[in-house]
Parts: sequence; C-alpha cells; structure tokens
Amino acid sequence: MKQNLFETALKLVEASRNHEKYRDTECINLIASEGLKSPAVKEMLSLSQDLESRYAEGNNDLEGHIKVRYYQGQKYITKIENCTADLMKKLFNCNWVDVRLVSGTHANLATFKGLSTATKRNGMVVAPLSAGAHISHDYTGLAGEVIGLETINHVYDTDEMNIDPDKSAEVIRKAKPGIITFGGSLFLFPHPLKELCEVAREVGAYTVYDGAHVLGLIAGGQFQNPLKEGADFITASTHKTFPGPQGGVVIANLEDKRMKVGIKSVQRSIFPLTTSNTHLARLPAMGLTALEMKVFGVELAKQTVKNARVAGECLFENGVKVLGEKNGFTRSHQIAVDVREYGGGKKVAENLEEANIIVNKNLLPYDDQKDKENPSGLRIGFQDVTRRGFKESDIKHLCGLMVDVIKGKRPLHDVREDTMALRQSFKEIKYGFQSIDETVKYAKRHC
Ligand SMILES: *Cc1c(COP(=O)(O)O)cnc(C)c1O
Repeated sequence: MKQNLFETALKLVEASRNHEKYRDTECINLIASEGLKSPAVKEMLSLSQDLESRYAEGNNDLEGHIKVRYYQGQKYITKIENCTADLMKKLFNCNWVDVRLVSGTHANLATFKGLSTATKRNGMVVAPLSAGAHISHDYTGLAGEVIGLETINHVYDTDEMNIDPDKSAEVIRKAKPGIITFGGSLFLFPHPLKELCEVAREVGAYTVYDGAHVLGLIAGGQFQNPLKEGADFITASTHKTFPGPQGGVVIANLEDKRMKVGIKSVQRSIFPLTTSNTHLARLPAMGLTALEMKVFGVELAKQTVKNARVAGECLFENGVKVLGEKNGFTRSHQIAVDVREYGGGKKVAENLEEANIIVNKNLLPYDDQKDKENPSGLRIGFQDVTRRGFKESDIKHLCGLMVDVIKGKRPLHDVREDTMALRQSFKEIKYGFQSIDETVKYAKRHC
C-alpha cells in the first residue's frame, strides 16, 4: 500500500512535468476555449502566492467595490480587488462589474439565479445546445438541473448559422421568460441583440450575453458590443479569447431602477449564495490582462479574426466542408467544419491529436443533441496561435497539415514532425507585456 502511494506521487510529478512540455511546447493548440497568457500575466500569477492561501469574503457596493469585510488583514486585498474591478470597468466601458466569479459557469449560475429571483420567473429562452449554447444554458445542465429553470429554445437558422430574430421574437413574446440568453461555445457570427433586446424589455425579461468565448474580441472591438446593442448583462470566462487567468466575470451598466434590482440580486447570488473563497490569486493577473487588452487588444483581436477567416477559406478551398460559407465562414476566433465524410468528429479529432494538432469534436446545428459522442463536426479556434505570432501564411501552412490528416494523405507521425517543427518556430508570445517590470514602466510613461 505504502509503496503504491509513493509510486502514485512520483507518477503525479512526472505526468505534470510531461504535460507542461507536451501541450506548451510540442503541440499546436486550436481548442477554441483556451487562452494563452503573456509572460507578464504568468509572472503576476507566480507573484501572488500568499494571496493563493487567503480568504476575503465581503459584500460589494453598486460600483463593484468592496463595502464590507468579515476578516482582518485585508488592507491590500481590498485594494487589489477594487483595482481589478476598475481595470475591467475601464476596458469594457461600463460602470459595474463583479470579479469574484471563479469561472464562466459560476458567472452563469449567479446571474441566472439572481435574475430569476428578481423577476420571479422560471423561464429562460436560450440557443439550442447543438446550435452552440453552453451546457450551463441547457435544461440538461446547470440551468435546468441545478437552478430548476425551464428553458425554451430560440429558433436557430442553420443556413445563417445564427439565431433567427423574427421567429425568436415570437417565441419570446409567447413564453414571457425572465431571462433571455445570447452567446455560446460554438459562436461564429454576432447574435441579433438589437432586435431581440427590445422584445425582451417589452416582456419584462433581462438579457444575458454569455461572452465566455468572445470576451477578448469584444475588448478589442472586433465582435459585437453587447452592452451597446442592448444586452443587460455580460457573463464570461476570463481565460478564453480574453487571455487571463482562469476565472469569471459579470459585467453590466447600472443605468436605472430595473438594472439596480437585477444587479443587487446577482450580487446576492454571488455572495453569500454561491461563494466563500473567491480564488483571490487570479485577481492581479486578471487586472493586468485587462490593461494588456487595452493596449494590445485591438491588434490581437483583428489578427485572430483574420486568421480564423483565412483558415476557413483555406480548408474550404481544399474541399473540407466549412460551415457559414455564405457569411465568410466566421467573424469570431473560431470556425466549424463538418467531417462526417472523413469518419466524423471523434475519429478526425483523434487523428489530429496523433499529429499533435489539438482540436475538439463538436455538435453542429443540424446534429441531434444525443450524438455528443460522435458529432459531425470539429470546432477550431485561432486565438492561441495568433498570440504566438501566426500570420496568414503560417495559418495556410497549418491548414495544409490539417488537410493531410483529415483526408488521410500522409502517415500521422510524419505530419507530427512537421507540426512540431512549425510549433518550434514560434517562440514568443505577442500582443502582451513580457514582464511585470515592462508593464510598470509602460504604465508610468502613460500616467
Ligand atoms: C466555456 C464556457 C462557459 C464556462 O466557462 P468556465 O469558465 O469553463 O466555467 C460558459 N459559457 C460559454 C458560452 C462557454 O463557452
């Protein structure tokens, strides 16, 4: 028994070391939900070791600042939390945020719970899971099974790869839900917020834009601006296209009594209902990422979207069925491809993995929700390679390797050598600060 315990510990250390080398240096990562932190943000995380052990429960005021603390020893923690909130507010041009969420799912939990309490309504209109909604929006996930919401689907137009505004307006008027969600995990084109947020007001519902995937693109002004287009709340992860530490955030504008009621209810859902410890060590790194996105976000988001579109075109020209062709394949960081004729999403994703190209299989809008184990598609994201410095010609090179795998043109180990060589030729992380020191110098120059 004892020996097993020690052996397991050794295995643990070895696997951890191997993982860092494998995924950080030997693979090309095209998982659409994973961000790549800058050296400065990583340094900030390693500097925050004491914070990693602390507790700081509290109540916030309506600016998203700390109002009440319950423990002693928090004079700096309160500054850290307030500064992080302020940096996020500046970046997203809004007057309220909450940074205490430990993940995007947690942000949805607190927001959905808070707004269903505020409206005393149980219905929530969401995109169908197969059309890109996150499991936390679904009746089979957090929304239904944990919070007990009754979900009603938006009408999805598979031709446009988007929510159908007219038909969904009808659904909303009939269902009179408390909440209407937008956004998702398979998310190619901006959702019709302008049209549907008006309908939401008409029926007395709050709108929640789940920007987990696209938060960095929103920050860089290259996707839609949900608050400006009428959404009440943005919920998000802080580690996808927003390339910060793993965590979550809720963003809104407190502009009238209706929003005050909603925000207060969401705050109560965050604390005391769903948090105690809020994983404080991620906050300085999140704040620093917000600054980076203010400084580099436009260029990063532009190149990310450009790379995704070029990949869509390139794969399409090579005979791979890329969705959304009539609208230019994508306006986000990701594309969706149908690989049924090559054996389906599961097999193709596994073959790509053998070639050290990491993607995930994905349901496509016309798939049955029950086919999750072997869906038709792949979802491919370009935020990681973009931050490593890939430009259009590098993307085309990478797509060539993918086509070789998808169509079975070359042995997988052969392609793997090329993948590793391509990965090795990108050693830096762009569109970010290289150290805390560099960040401080930059900030001082611009004070
Ligand atoms: C990833 C994702 C989430 C969940 O985020 P976590 O931070 O992993 O909990 C929520 N919503 C959408 C749309 C997502 O893609």
